[in-house]
Order: sequence, then structure tokens, then C-alpha cells
Amino acid sequence: MFKNDEGVIANKEIDSLELEKAKQIIIGLQKQMAEYIKNGSGPFLAAIYDENGKLIAQNANSVVSENCSHNHAEMNTIKEAEKVLNTYDLSQYNLSLYVTSEPCMMCLGGILWSGIKAVYYGLPSKRVEEITGFDEGFKPKWFDAFQKRGITVYGNIAPMEAEQVLYNYVENGHIVYKPER
Ligand SMILES: [Zn+2]
Repeated sequence: MFKNDEGVIANKEIDSLELEKAKQIIIGLQKQMAEYIKNGSGPFLAAIYDENGKLIAQNANSVVSENCSHNHAEMNTIKEAEKVLNTYDLSQYNLSLYVTSEPCMMCLGGILWSGIKAVYYGLPSKRVEEITGFDEGFKPKWFDAFQKRGITVYGNIAPMEAEQVLYNYVENGHIVYKPER
């Protein structure tokens, strides 16, 4: 596990250019969140970019609006990217997934099967659970597991922006669902 002065954690040595790019994208996603929430989305947004910085897909959580427990932001965005690129195997494209909060246990599986090569996330699951009450599921040492499969992970990127989005979501009385009841 690698860590920098700002508290960013990663499963490989932190590259400052890569981190700066991820920070800009994730802060951009946090800024767009309010508009998505107004339209009925859950408070999580993801985007997939190719190695040339081209946006391939971007999608929010639509569990409540579409009555589907699988429709987390990461899953929706992966589905969209596969449709756009017309493939079930994204590994040939060297794609990166950026997401406003740490992926839950379902999305970790979804990311593995998709062939995504790098994951950059904002707020860690523990803080998401503390602020909202969403259940993120049990997660083994996934940084190591992803490293073994050659998938880069950077986390805790611009967490303050994510916290503000989630506090607003809860304060405005939006739905928080908990599968464990
Ligand atoms: Zn998820």
C-alpha cells in the first residue's frame, strides 16, 4: 500500500500527474452530482476514460429510479462503455474508471469482469457508511487482489468534495437503502 501526504492511497507508486488528472475528473463528477440527484439518481457518479483522455461513458446510480439493485454508478457506466464499444471485454482498450466514492463489493466484481485497467475513487466506503448509512458490503484486501490482476487503484481522492455531496443528499431526505436491513 502506498500513501502520499494528502492521504491518497494506492496499490502502486503514486504518479503525481496521474493523480492530478484523476483529481480533476473526480472533482468534476462531484460538481455534476447535484444535477443528477435532482433528476432522481443516487449520490454516486462514475466515468470511464480511455488512455487518450477521451470520455467513453458516464453514469450515475439509478437503483431507485429504475428499480434495480444492480444499478450502481460503476455498473451503469461499465454497461454503457461495453455498449458504446460493442464488446463484453474492455481489457483491449486500457480504460480507467473514475468514481466519486469507493466501489462496493458488487462493483469490485463488476470491475474485475469488465477488463477495466485502473480505478480511481473519491471517498472511502467507511466514510460513505458513516455519513449515509448505505451498506458497502464486506470487502477483502481488494487493493492487493487488484494489483495481482494488474489493475491500478488510487483512493481517497478529494474526499472533502464527496463528503459535502453526501451530507447534502442525506439532509435533503433522499432515499438510503440498506440490503442488510
Ligand atoms: Zn456498487
